[in-house]
Amino acid sequence: MVGRAARHTLVVWVAAILLLAGCSSGSADRPESSTSTAPTVSPTSTVTTTVLPRPVVVLDPGHGGAQPGAIGPSGLAEKEVNLDVARRAAVALLAEGVDAVLTRDGDHCETIGYRVAFAARRRPEVFVSIHHNADPDGPSDGPGSETYFQYRSAESKRLSGILYEEIAAALRPFAAEWVGDTDAGAKWRLNDRDGDYYGILRLAGEQGMTASLVELAFISNPSEEALLRLDDVRQAEAEALARGILRYLRTPDPGSGFTIPYPRSSGPSTSGPRCTDPLP
Ligand SMILES: [Zn+2]
Repeated sequence: MVGRAARHTLVVWVAAILLLAGCSSGSADRPESSTSTAPTVSPTSTVTTTVLPRPVVVLDPGHGGAQPGAIGPSGLAEKEVNLDVARRAAVALLAEGVDAVLTRDGDHCETIGYRVAFAARRRPEVFVSIHHNADPDGPSDGPGSETYFQYRSAESKRLSGILYEEIAAALRPFAAEWVGDTDAGAKWRLNDRDGDYYGILRLAGEQGMTASLVELAFISNPSEEALLRLDDVRQAEAEALARGILRYLRTPDPGSGFTIPYPRSSGPSTSGPRCTDPLP
């Protein structure tokens, strides 16, 4: 007769023996010498894949809708060129593994506040506002491209210096009767409260974003307006923006073309008709 405690112990031993037999049955089923060529994987080995986060860049095609921006002498609207160049730049950046997003991807009006809020939600490494210029000081030996940086941001200055290098180099090979300001280059502009004059740069700075505003070429100049109708020129501008952004992200390049701006009006920039922002 087996008592209750002894029976319990027996059950535990039987269970343990069965468990051991089960554990070893796998190896018992295998042939003594295996000729299999299948790779052996240690149960402790793990395959680790590191997924690097894709950098985020927000591109802001200036103006739109009821705000055309500058108009060329033959009627080309800045808003249309800005959007086309931004789209092309986004394609070039996406091909390089950068998540490029546009603040507008159609012909509609958006406020500066909306554009900055849209960008800030995406926490971009870079925020670039894309424009074409008007009212130059006069003829210039080469492209009168300008890039504006956030006055108190060393990174914005570096970004703007690199963008200036790329834009001017990309446009210079095209034949044009160039115009420009005497202080063309990478520069800053302040308002009467010592803040960045351009709202897009000022508000972006308040949101902690590194930003640049680029004035690629003078659409008000007949010769440059004619160039800006060409696919090749728009593509060259877009690729210059993409190259500049990639250099900013991937290198410590300091940029160049920095100039000391001459004094300009520090009052508010002229604003067009009111915008009805699209829903977020
Ligand atoms: Zn503009």
